[in-house]
Amino acid sequence: MAEIPMRRIREGEVPFDGGTAIQEDPDRPAFRGNGPDDYVCVQCGNTLAEAMHQMQMTKKVRVRCGRCSTVNVAVTDESAEPGS
Ligand SMILES: [Zn+2]
Repeated sequence: MAEIPMRRIREGEVPFDGGTAIQEDPDRPAFRGNGPDDYVCVQCGNTLAEAMHQMQMTKKVRVRCGRCSTVNVAVTDESAEPGS
């Protein structure tokens, strides 16, 4: 099981099609799957999605951290910021 940091969503990056999941309890992941990886908040390292498959963590999957309120997105695709 790997721990994968999500990344901070950028201003204007939010597409219209889809909402942001709110993690209501910081001690409980907003999502739980049966995949190999945990996804953690880029800001505070809190677990936001547990046991997820990479293919489940598309750009539409966004989670607002229940601890620090950072909105995280998992995908770092080809349009991700270059040089970082
Ligand atoms: Zn956080």
